[in-house]
Amino acid sequence: MRAEENLANMQARMEETGIDLVAIGPTGNMRYLLGFVPHADERLCLLLVDRRSVRMVVPDLNREEVAAHTDIDLIDWADADGPHESLRKTLADFHRPRKLAVDGGMRADHLLQLQAAVTPDRTLTVDAVLAPLRMCKSGEEIEALARAAAQADRAMQAAVNVCRPGITEAEVAWAAEAAFREDGAEQVCFTLIASGPNGAYPHHHSSERMLQKGDAIIIDIGASLNGYKSDITRMVYLGEPLLEFLSAHAAVYEANQRAMAAVRPDLTAGEIDHIARNTLEEAGYGPFFIHRTGHGIGLEGHEPPWIMAGDTTILQEGMVFSIEPGVYLVGQFGVRIEDIVAVTPSGVRSLTGFDHSLIIKD
Ligand code: ZN
Ligand code: ZN
Repeated sequence: MRAEENLANMQARMEETGIDLVAIGPTGNMRYLLGFVPHADERLCLLLVDRRSVRMVVPDLNREEVAAHTDIDLIDWADADGPHESLRKTLADFHRPRKLAVDGGMRADHLLQLQAAVTPDRTLTVDAVLAPLRMCKSGEEIEALARAAAQADRAMQAAVNVCRPGITEAEVAWAAEAAFREDGAEQVCFTLIASGPNGAYPHHHSSERMLQKGDAIIIDIGASLNGYKSDITRMVYLGEPLLEFLSAHAAVYEANQRAMAAVRPDLTAGEIDHIARNTLEEAGYGPFFIHRTGHGIGLEGHEPPWIMAGDTTILQEGMVFSIEPGVYLVGQFGVRIEDIVAVTPSGVRSLTGFDHSLIIKD
């Protein structure tokens, strides 16, 4: 089973990096290590791993569900008692850990309880041991990501279909959301529809604004299919596009295509960012490309590697990340084109397949 292998690989890296204890919350990290993740809420739920053993502290209402998925030792606690005693007892089974590595996605209140109980000399995030493992996807994981990307292509088509003057951003978002759910997505992570001037905000929340003629519309959507995330952005224009828009769109398209074409093993993440950034700088849009070129994707929507300026991470076969250059002109419009790509032994494979051309509608 893959999850057991992942856990063993992490323990081997703990040995190499001198980490005594790892604590994981109900996040993508837990799913990676157990093949399963229970419901996350304010109740303390921690997977505790030292170099030899594994234990999990769980709220008792979730015990049976967790036990159905894993053989590891479970120590439960009841709402009326709180987790303190169970956590203390569990930790007593480990040697006093000096170097503690914690899940960056863990709740701060759980971290405080853990630190009070462990009193480590040093606490760091678990990325040092887990990120290098999670960054390189197995063949199985790449196929799962490809299926998620294909689903996002279909949801994109549904969103594009409903774009017309008079419909609101929220209604377009719902069309994408409904398409994802009808297609079997377990969770719709975001449906960002940014029309007209709203497009200048990279993280705009779909609003009640009505689409109108002359709008450039950014459609950026993503969901989770069997744990693996999707993320795609395409552009729609209502009516005859302004030259100003066409020129920005052409530059972003060029940046997306050049950066994608350059992806291959042994280049650095920073070099890919440089190619996209340089293309936009040459076209005069340098100051308007206000974010990194991309982010890794897998069990989480955003995870290493980070495709950003100066990043020295060396691309390796199996890494999967977004290429999403953009240009944001405040008060006017935004342009972003985003794909998910996988590094292959000799180059790149695009997992998203939706046509890149500007979609012009009446
Ligand atoms: Zn996106
Ligand atoms: Zn993205």
